[in-house]
Amino acid sequence: MKKKLIAGNWKMNGGLAANEALLKALRDGMAAIASPCDVAVAVPAPYLAQVQALVAGSGIALAAQDVSAHEQGAYTGEVSAAMLKEFGARYVLVGHSERRQYHGETDAVVAIKAQRALALGVTPIVCVGETLAERDAGETEAVVKRQLAAVIHLNGHCISEIVVAYEPVWAIGTGRTATPAQAQAVHAVLRAQLALASGHAERVHLLYGGSMNAANAAELLAQPDIDGGLVGGASLKAADFLQIMGAA
Ligand code: PGA
Repeated sequence: MKKKLIAGNWKMNGGLAANEALLKALRDGMAAIASPCDVAVAVPAPYLAQVQALVAGSGIALAAQDVSAHEQGAYTGEVSAAMLKEFGARYVLVGHSERRQYHGETDAVVAIKAQRALALGVTPIVCVGETLAERDAGETEAVVKRQLAAVIHLNGHCISEIVVAYEPVWAIGTGRTATPAQAQAVHAVLRAQLALASGHAERVHLLYGGSMNAANAAELLAQPDIDGGLVGGASLKAADFLQIMGAA
């Protein structure tokens, strides 16, 4: 059975001193976990070099939070997949709901970003999820399938090399977690969709994200199609993040 993957998403938080303290606490804490799950931290781009050095040899993988849809050139402010690769990024989040919501990222842009990452050997963590209005309208399944289909359509042959994170928008940063049954139901839909596209759907890590914390992680991670978590707020506190790892 594949190991679970617990990925922290620091969002626009951190600082040189805070990052160092957090990662030291995580390294110390992980040393006490008998068989740790796979762990990653998605950090703001300016800290990639610092965190690359701090996680060396720790078993914590480095992740970025976004990647440009362009390869290189006159795109002020953008960070390319090649740059992420150069700084040792193993993963990159693509299509986080905050990128979709505040930065106008469409399904098509998200698919291209995933493709850029894959081309450089950086694993995209493709984020999908419905808003509360969409859930209330009974559109959850259609929304997440549409979001995932765009990526599958463009990257079909690489399906087994992506990670998918189901993050209901209404659960992100709100303290309102999807119930294990609600999350599992959507994960099963995503797994079935992946299986139609590839013979390797079982290999794909399907993460749940949205107010995952030390108290609710174990129950969510016990669901058959939940292979890990994408953790925002709770990943900034070493004790909480370690407890989530322990639950995996
Ligand atoms: P949260 O964020 O854990 O703070 O809800 C999760 C995410 O946005 O990835």
